[in-house]
Amino acid sequence: MPAKGVLILAVTADVVIAGGGVIGTAIAWRAAMSGLDVVVVDPDIGDGASLVAAGMLAPVSESLFGEGELLALNLLALRRFPEFAAELEKAAGDEIGLRTEGTLAVAYDAGDYAALLRLTSFRRSAGLEAEELDSRACRKLEPFLTPDVHGGVLFGGDWSVDNRRYAAALRKAMLAAGARTVRDRVTEVRPGVGVITASGASVRSDQVVVATGCWTGTIDGLPPQIRGAVRPVKGQLLRLRHPDRMPPVTTHTIRATVRGADIYLVPRADGEMIIGATQEERGHDQTVTAGAVHDMLHDAMSVLPVTSELILAETCAGLRPGTPDNGPIVGRADGLLIATGHYRNGILMSAATADAVLAYLSGERPEAEWNAFTPGRLA
Ligand SMILES: Cc1cc2nc3c(=O)[nH]c(=O)nc-3n(C[C@H](O)[C@H](O)[C@H](O)COP(=O)(O)OP(=O)(O)OC[C@H]3O[C@@H](n4cnc5c(N)ncnc54)[C@H](O)[C@@H]3O)c2cc1C
Repeated sequence: MPAKGVLILAVTADVVIAGGGVIGTAIAWRAAMSGLDVVVVDPDIGDGASLVAAGMLAPVSESLFGEGELLALNLLALRRFPEFAAELEKAAGDEIGLRTEGTLAVAYDAGDYAALLRLTSFRRSAGLEAEELDSRACRKLEPFLTPDVHGGVLFGGDWSVDNRRYAAALRKAMLAAGARTVRDRVTEVRPGVGVITASGASVRSDQVVVATGCWTGTIDGLPPQIRGAVRPVKGQLLRLRHPDRMPPVTTHTIRATVRGADIYLVPRADGEMIIGATQEERGHDQTVTAGAVHDMLHDAMSVLPVTSELILAETCAGLRPGTPDNGPIVGRADGLLIATGHYRNGILMSAATADAVLAYLSGERPEAEWNAFTPGRLA
């Protein structure tokens, strides 16, 4: 019970969104632009996976055996991104660091190269663009790569964005479009009624959108199959920068396999270099470990020795919202709208997810690529 004399907030809105990561804010921006009165509830805007991520928009180099439907959805998401990004930059008045140079995947030894070629032939069979390169051709594209690199493949269809700039721009655009925020934690969702928060406040709304990433399982009132489906998958990541604020040391995103271990290096226009990431099943633990930092730096320096000259500016850990089939959960369930479980691709999928949720809000069906990712598949 709240203390006597404490004012309990009771807000009303057309749409209330639980969660203000990139998924919640992308939906909020588009919904507010369409004329809806929107409230976003989040206790700590800035603590989610969206600010930790590497920002790769990489349907091609993220595609794995057996994930054909996810690949189709990721390709839809990438097609949608440039127009969404251009509108966002205009609305927010800020650049978000979109880069379209592609991913250069490199293999450290012969075993790594054989594995890369197996994945490449799968990706080609799915119609994706891939150009095989020998060691010399890799170094022609990226002169700082070690001559020891065995060979590589250029996946020209991948992009990247500065996820922190992107998240900040979404928030700015959402507020400029009239969306309101409540800094509180949603404890319970009530379909067709609204949400209750930890401080005892309520936001009343016919439309409740759940976009709480890996914390989705902590909210009462959700169908049990949704609560049980989303788990945190920890990812540790490093942010490095050039001592003299020079341009980044690579042009492409580099994905390297170093004696079986995978690592990526994502350049930013301001010279920052992102190195990631671990994949760990450790519940909600967000600590950074010495071993992970060591392993990532070691593997990064094996393929790009110049990494050792950069300043280690930040180490961080975030929690991806993982699901049993690695796909997002987007659609209606028991009177609620669910937009969670984006796992490794939430930055990439944010624009397309906003479109899908806007379609549901106006009583329409989203694009066919979403059919495999509705909450109904979890029943
Ligand atoms: C190391 C790492 C690297 C990644 N790299 C990439 C990449 O390169 N490309 C890519 O596309 N994706 C990447 N991802 C995945 C991407 O970050 C996520 O899929 C995406 O950020 C999910 O967005 P979200 O808004 O659903 O979740 P979050 O960003 O986690 O936001 C959830 C929000 O919900 C709020 N919240 C939690 N509980 C409640 C509650 N009870 N009430 C109200 N609000 C609540 C939180 O405070 C938070 O702000 C990466 C993730 C990690 C960890």
